Amino acid sequence: MVRFHELEQLGVSLALMTEVSDGDCSSRGDKAARTRVCVACGIDGEDLVCGSQVHGVEIAVALESDRGRGVRTDHPAFPATDALVTNVRGLPLAIFVADCVPVYIVEPKTGCIALIHAGREGTLRGIAGLTVRLLQKTYGASPGDIHALIGPSAGPCCYEVDEPRAKAFAAAGWAVRGRYLDLWNANAAQLAGAGVPRGQIAVAGVCTICSETYYSHRRCGDGRRNMPLLVL
Ligand SMILES: [Zn+2]
Repeated sequence: MVRFHELEQLGVSLALMTEVSDGDCSSRGDKAARTRVCVACGIDGEDLVCGSQVHGVEIAVALESDRGRGVRTDHPAFPATDALVTNVRGLPLAIFVADCVPVYIVEPKTGCIALIHAGREGTLRGIAGLTVRLLQKTYGASPGDIHALIGPSAGPCCYEVDEPRAKAFAAAGWAVRGRYLDLWNANAAQLAGAGVPRGQIAVAGVCTICSETYYSHRRCGDGRRNMPLLVL
């Protein structure tokens, strides 16, 4: 797994993403692999909070009572949810990705975080900016105090789509080179557009399609996923 120390230095207890060497951590994947990762990080694998991801723009506010949603058999994931926010200390937010962009958000002043699954559709519809606005509304977070990281995902080097999709992306104002989408740039632009200072938006710059460190839907296409995890 890779730990994002630049976020952990802001006071969150964990900011990481699992790699191929950690195994398939998806909800349909290898539960033992996920448990191993959680144990290694000192958290209970039954505490994760997950949404049922649908490439939409619904954002759930996670409370203490949501602990275990999507991992405990009697506690289903937030339905049709692609981003999670919380201000509960020690509540682990988890998403599952293979090429889709994980966006990590930390606002250390008011003490709130967000973890976003921003695929092509979610990016097109502006889920990163919507999440910043929800943090403002819910917790009184100030965009100027937000730090964000765009994690390993499909890079502009490899993320080629068909002509109509490229056109739709360009029409929305997001970065496109021919038929190659730049999801990193688009999400960074959305965060900046919502008021997050450019200097506080980091891009991991690792492409899951051409780096073999991570599971990739494009390269593997077998349902295996990497798990980004963020714990306040
Ligand atoms: Zn690439």
